[in-house]
Amino acid sequence: MGKYIFVTGGVMSSLGKGIVSSSTANLMISAGYKVVSIKIDPYINVDAGTMNPYAHGEVFVTEDGYEADLDMGHYERFTNMLTSRDNNITTGQVYQSVIRMEREGAYLGKCVQLVPHITDEIKRRLRDVSQKSGADITIVEVGGTVGDMESQPFLEAIRQMKLDEPAGSIMYIHLAHIPFLKHTNELKTKPLQHSVQELRRIGIQPDMIICRSENGISDDIRRKVSLFTSVPYDMVISDPDASTIYEVPLVLENQGMVGKISKMLQLGIKEADTKQWKGFVDRINNARADLNIYMIGKYTDDRDSYMSITEAVHHSAAAVGARAIIHWVESTNLEDGSISVNSILDDNAGYVILPGFGKRGTEGKIAALKELRMRNVPVLGICFGMQLMAIEIARNVVGIEGAGSTELDPNTGHPVVDMLEEQKKVKMMGGTMRLGSRRATLVDNTLAHKIYGSNVVYERHRHRYEINPEYVEALGKAGFIVSGYSDEGFPDFMELKDNLFYIGTQGHPEFKSRPLSPAPLFRAFMEAVAERNMLKKEDISRTNAVSK
Ligand code: GLN
Repeated sequence: MGKYIFVTGGVMSSLGKGIVSSSTANLMISAGYKVVSIKIDPYINVDAGTMNPYAHGEVFVTEDGYEADLDMGHYERFTNMLTSRDNNITTGQVYQSVIRMEREGAYLGKCVQLVPHITDEIKRRLRDVSQKSGADITIVEVGGTVGDMESQPFLEAIRQMKLDEPAGSIMYIHLAHIPFLKHTNELKTKPLQHSVQELRRIGIQPDMIICRSENGISDDIRRKVSLFTSVPYDMVISDPDASTIYEVPLVLENQGMVGKISKMLQLGIKEADTKQWKGFVDRINNARADLNIYMIGKYTDDRDSYMSITEAVHHSAAAVGARAIIHWVESTNLEDGSISVNSILDDNAGYVILPGFGKRGTEGKIAALKELRMRNVPVLGICFGMQLMAIEIARNVVGIEGAGSTELDPNTGHPVVDMLEEQKKVKMMGGTMRLGSRRATLVDNTLAHKIYGSNVVYERHRHRYEINPEYVEALGKAGFIVSGYSDEGFPDFMELKDNLFYIGTQGHPEFKSRPLSPAPLFRAFMEAVAERNMLKKEDISRTNAVSK
């Protein structure tokens, strides 16, 4: 029988429940257990695909083309495992199933209610994932904060699980914030006490409390938290701000996390093996050079909007023995002139042209691309980024005035980027883009081929538009050649053959980047930046990377 760990959050959101859940999974896997992770999102949306990245952060795409909450990205990066649509449960999905069953007559004669029908469906989904995966431990993160109205049915369901499952199968971990009050110079535990009281009102007594604070907690605070929450002193864990999120598993294990969980879940004694992971964290903390990476996009106000790209950049920097210093550039500011393109030009830096949707900010990106192309600095275009590379070259090198995309102007006379044929009949917005892992065939003697070292690659996709094959020949003559084709025959990778590193892809290689195995395209980009950074060249070793 599988065991379950439920992670809830208190006081406020954005405390890093996803990181704590992923770190716990990371540690239990390192101790030899089979783990599966589930994210519960109490919102009514069926998935995260239709939400604005400003409000909700990145949409993470799984291999099977599910548009998930960004925490699923943390799960994949911290556990090196793949997730799928089954690993995310939303209110929308639960109600959709229950209402469908009601219409089919599955509850004939009954009044369909929150308890037991909705809660049963939640429990069914949790058990289903646990059983199908054959995991020893299912780690379930309950999104939102205890006390949110939308979370109630999920909290009720996980409360019931303790009644249903054998003793020693369930553990509740509660993560809450302990703020520091400057004017009295003290840490305040009252908000945490209230969030635990709220949890208890629902009927859940936490087994472990993780205290999020800026600088850690004293023994006194630990004692106080223990007293007021009825959680044993040794089950109160400190989770201070870390230099990198990847340090969190080590911070938890330094306090005996695996041993404490094993005892609680009657798992016997196994030890965490954090050696490789520690090696990676040490590489980040002891980086021998800083590399400036400019990220040009439209949703830069919320850093979470580009979470997987940011992480892929950090993984790659660590692999070349460097640290990435990220400079966010808001493309709408480049467009309205409040930032000049000149002010972001740096011959030693690398540039990522970020994915995106819609017209606003695109002329800013295109103006920047022109300068970057001419300066021959390393540029990586992701999805929309590659589409704009093609438009810029069509306009300024091929000489097609007004070259554009039908996404930005449906009436453009020169649709260098056009809607995919299959998308033209799509009416529903949710889950209907070209999504998930797709094959590309790489062209011999191209940079893309050299980078991947393979003829066939699979990356995840999320788009409705493509480079119009009718313009491929003209772009190629201008030096912007196709280096990989999708199975449908449109350009999936393109590169400027005379530049040092100027490459774009329609895919999202960032989703498959892992701390110990960075996405090949990002890794090669970072090597190009490191090489370009001549002054620091001797500090950067191309060979000290992950193989060590
Ligand atoms: N808006 C573009 C498309 O739909 C690019 C999408 C993206 O960058 N993910 O094709």
